[in-house]
Amino acid sequence: MRLEDYPTEPRYTARVLRTEDITEDGSDTEVREIVLELEKQKFDFEVGQSIGVLVKGSGDFGRSVHHRLYTVADTPMTSANPEVTIVVRRCNYIDDYSGEEFIGVNSNYLCDRRPGDEITITGPFGMPFTVPTDKNANLLLIGLGTGIAPFRALVKHIYRDIGNWKGKVRLLYGAHSGLELLYMNNKRDDFTNYYDEETFEAFKALSPRPNWADPIAWDFAIEDRADEIWKMLEDEHTYVYVAGQRPIRDALDKLFGEMAESDAVWAKKKADLIEQGRWVELVY
Ligand SMILES: Cc1cc2nc3c(=O)[nH]c(=O)nc-3n(C[C@H](O)[C@H](O)[C@H](O)COP(=O)(O)OP(=O)(O)OC[C@H]3O[C@@H](n4cnc5c(N)ncnc54)[C@H](O)[C@@H]3O)c2cc1C
Repeated sequence: MRLEDYPTEPRYTARVLRTEDITEDGSDTEVREIVLELEKQKFDFEVGQSIGVLVKGSGDFGRSVHHRLYTVADTPMTSANPEVTIVVRRCNYIDDYSGEEFIGVNSNYLCDRRPGDEITITGPFGMPFTVPTDKNANLLLIGLGTGIAPFRALVKHIYRDIGNWKGKVRLLYGAHSGLELLYMNNKRDDFTNYYDEETFEAFKALSPRPNWADPIAWDFAIEDRADEIWKMLEDEHTYVYVAGQRPIRDALDKLFGEMAESDAVWAKKKADLIEQGRWVELVY
């Protein structure tokens, strides 16, 4: 579904309860965890769904509002009203040639909001990642950057709400540097909550030379686990969920193309998995 197809009505007012930069000190990216409280009304969020955020635009190109989507990372319940947590990366882009800086409208707006501020939201919108009804199902979760948000919610749901999960859950998380790892750093290490679960394992993929903007070394991260991952893919009870910024798609095609020993073999396998609903991407 294209962004333009998401309805911007009905609209709801949400109030910022808390906002915190959850990257390590010294990181040159800013990613904020923002907890929103809604006016009292029925608003059922589910893990993996997204909410829309509307920001008044300048009216350029006939657009009076900017509508952008953010994945529900958690649904804390600390007050009587519905609450929702989103994780937002401040997006700015500096043109290499002109040096001109382009400021991402909604991400900057959200990162600048402070407790008590009100914002306008839409949704919630569809959940791309369904939780299998069979507790023996395996899940391979692959996230890049803020793509960790739906998996934080999903893993919590599996182990805390459902419980006694029997299938393997493997979380592969990529970032350009350790400083960019969200929920796996000194400030927040949420996934340690599940490290005592026999079926859960999380591993990181980082860029070998973060300052050089080198690609993330996905192959290095799974070197010792390539056999296990390939076996999981061959198992009809495995679901692969992918989330994050667009480069993740190419990176994974390259990685799995190498594992399949041919891009064409991988393209066919991936198409089959997608058709069977066993490979689902949330790429933005
Ligand atoms: C289903 C879904 C879920 C998502 N979940 C999340 C999430 O959990 N967290 C998250 O942070 N994001 C998420 N996103 C992405 C998010 O919706 C926005 O796309 C992102 O925040 C950027 O929006 P923006 O309004 O800040 O930037 P925009 O104003 O849309 O600009 C986009 C980018 O392009 C750059 N840019 C702007 N103008 C130019 C130009 N003229 N030339 C070159 N570059 C330019 C900006 O600097 C910015 O980096 C999700 C997207 C989808 C579709």
